Amino acid sequence: MFELDETQRAVEQAVRSWCEQNLAPAVPAMERGEHLPYPLLRRMGKELGLDEALVRLARRRLAKLQAVGSGEREMEAEPAGGLADDPMVTSVLLKEISRISPGFGMVLLATVGCGMAILSSSSAPLIERYAVPVLSFEKIGAWALTEPGAGSDAFGSMQTTARVEQSTLVLNGHKTYISNAPFADVFVIYARVKMGDANPVIRPIVVERGTPGLDTGPPMRKMGMHDSPTGEVFLQDCRVPRENLIGRIEPTEKARGSAALETLNLERAAMPAMCLGIIERCVEESVRYAKTRVQFGRPIAEFQAVAFKLARMTVALENARNLVFKLAWAQRAGKLHPQLASIAKLYCAEKAVRVALDAIQIHGGAGYMAELPLEKLMRDAKMFEIGGGTNEIQLQTIARSILGPPNR
Ligand SMILES: Cc1cc2nc3c(=O)[nH]c(=O)nc-3n(C[C@H](O)[C@H](O)[C@H](O)COP(=O)(O)OP(=O)(O)OC[C@H]3O[C@@H](n4cnc5c(N)ncnc54)[C@H](O)[C@@H]3O)c2cc1C
Repeated sequence: MFELDETQRAVEQAVRSWCEQNLAPAVPAMERGEHLPYPLLRRMGKELGLDEALVRLARRRLAKLQAVGSGEREMEAEPAGGLADDPMVTSVLLKEISRISPGFGMVLLATVGCGMAILSSSSAPLIERYAVPVLSFEKIGAWALTEPGAGSDAFGSMQTTARVEQSTLVLNGHKTYISNAPFADVFVIYARVKMGDANPVIRPIVVERGTPGLDTGPPMRKMGMHDSPTGEVFLQDCRVPRENLIGRIEPTEKARGSAALETLNLERAAMPAMCLGIIERCVEESVRYAKTRVQFGRPIAEFQAVAFKLARMTVALENARNLVFKLAWAQRAGKLHPQLASIAKLYCAEKAVRVALDAIQIHGGAGYMAELPLEKLMRDAKMFEIGGGTNEIQLQTIARSILGPPNR
């Protein structure tokens, strides 16, 4: 369980060599905003067979829907899986990309997250029309939950609404910090759907770029992940067919935000692997540098202050790796619980930031310079303590899972 098998090792090697040859040289121009990441994403999809694997998943889902026939909407949502039916392969892929650029990993995660949200509980026409083009990277996807007034409390404070008018949904609202939003073709938008006298329920709705009433802002300037465009989405009387609603409208507490939580859990399961990539690269670079950088007549690795830092970084690497293995096992066994996803995301995000800072410290001035990858890895690492649920929200999820909900 704690070692990659032969297939997973082969994937690791193939992705590493692709990323070193193609992604690493492209990162500086993408970071400066001179090139968008999407042409390279499409190339990666083709050359690593990622698009084929994802479309195969979609085709399998379509075949199942066909088998169920008219009762398609009664089907169980697709469980959280992974590429090639192996979540560890997904983890290895994200880890390898994030050794070079976590931002580029975010571009992939956001588009796949959008495609998977549509795939997991949509009708066949919605999957054909939107999930297949997004999962083959022909179209770029975005997944929009966060709003200016609804971040950690995304469900409780959500203002975006969808009014049902006969066969049409009319959306109004404002989403922010959405990965890929400035350039995405397909958006999964979460909104309070109001139908008749029933209480509104939060559901995801597919909206295509070009639909009147949907607009996006320019890429936001941010601390890190400069190669991952992030932006706002504006909805003003944006009308889409009612069929674009993903899943059923169930005015029950259980249904409230359940599709969003599935995608969030998927995100929380993917992000630890990305953090592992940061940690692994930082440890490798730091060990190599500490053995060769000479000060006071000896390699700096011989100073205990440096050696102990490396030892702590290695402990974090081992723990993060174990958590990523456990997450992949849990996904495969259908046992991915929010508690485990939160533990892994919290630990790996905190350690990615800590280890990246330590790596910069060990490299001294060289670590602070953009010529080395460490300062980007550190800036990108910080995102994982915020996106997909902040550290504090992960702690809250873990605390509630052991103590039960607060008695208020
Ligand atoms: C680069 C980037 C990409 C992103 N991509 C996407 C995307 O594709 N789609 C999407 O929907 N969202 C995306 N997000 C948004 C992200 O999920 C939110 O930023 C995050 O959930 C936090 O929400 P907030 O920024 O509104 O912070 P707030 O919720 O305002 O939190 C502010 C602070 O208060 C703390 N806090 C809040 N509530 C509690 C509490 N109950 N107990 C203790 N502390 C609390 C938080 O932990 C945080 O420290 C992205 C964010 C970033 C930075």
